[in-house]
Amino acid sequence: MMRVLLLGGTAEARALAKTLHPRFDIVSSLAGRVPDPALPVGPVRIGGFGGVDGLRRWLHDEGIDAVVDATHPFAATMTAHAAQVCGHVGMPHLVLARPAWDPGVATVVTSGTEAAGVVAEQCYSRVFLTTGRSGVGAFAASDAWFLIRAVTAPDGAGMPRRHHVILSRGPYGYDDELALLREHRIDALVTKNSGGDMTRAKLDAAAALDVPVVMVARPALPAGVRTACTVDEAAEWVSGLAAGGVGPGPSEPPR
Ligand code: NAP
Repeated sequence: MMRVLLLGGTAEARALAKTLHPRFDIVSSLAGRVPDPALPVGPVRIGGFGGVDGLRRWLHDEGIDAVVDATHPFAATMTAHAAQVCGHVGMPHLVLARPAWDPGVATVVTSGTEAAGVVAEQCYSRVFLTTGRSGVGAFAASDAWFLIRAVTAPDGAGMPRRHHVILSRGPYGYDDELALLREHRIDALVTKNSGGDMTRAKLDAAAALDVPVVMVARPALPAGVRTACTVDEAAEWVSGLAAGGVGPGPSEPPR
């Protein structure tokens, strides 16, 4: 049976595991950042591979035949490593990349540091910060007050002086997001362009309340990788591979 590594940590990865298991021999991989992760069905391994060389060794030792990278669109290092190793060893490789959000009238920036610059320039004073635990440090020197929402608590060091932390994980609904923005008198939302439905309600709530949005654009995918936009497309690609087909998307190896 074909053995597939499913790089996860997202709702899409869990949905894909549910679709493929037990028809295919899959193993899902999580980075291990979250102490109590939502686990996919089927076998799971947890922790980094040890860079490009570690991943290459692991794929070989585990007899993996194909890799589906369903990590978060901002997990750029893992995505680069998988593309590089699969390109070198000629292993079938697919990135499940959920469509990005249309930024609309949002101010688009390329980093958290740039987003912090916009907050300062625009004199935003009560900011809803949803860039995740690792994105908080960029705002450490800001004078604004931040409502920080993350899955796990950010480190105390590098936190903005004035803040309140909410620990939770999505999905979030429109009415709750609207209430949160009102309750905390938010005057700006800072978000990554994560895409997907689980966390998009904050954008609709911000639009309804005329709250400006600062959106961090996604890192580019490695050149030439084969992509799928949906869980169904990715499952179809795996089935096609098992049946000896090539699956959807471009097929040139990454540079
Ligand atoms: P990253 O910066 O791209 O990766 C850093 C290192 O973490 C990688 O080099 C790898 O270590 C390890 N790693 C990352 N994803 C892994 C996986 N699925 N399985 C095994 N090792 C993994 O990743 P990140 O942005 O910190 O994200 C970590 C995890 O959280 C990912 O699984 C991602 O899907 C999930 N996540 C990320 C975000 C986000 O905003 N970045 C949001 C929601 C969920 P080695 O080099 O040792 O192999």
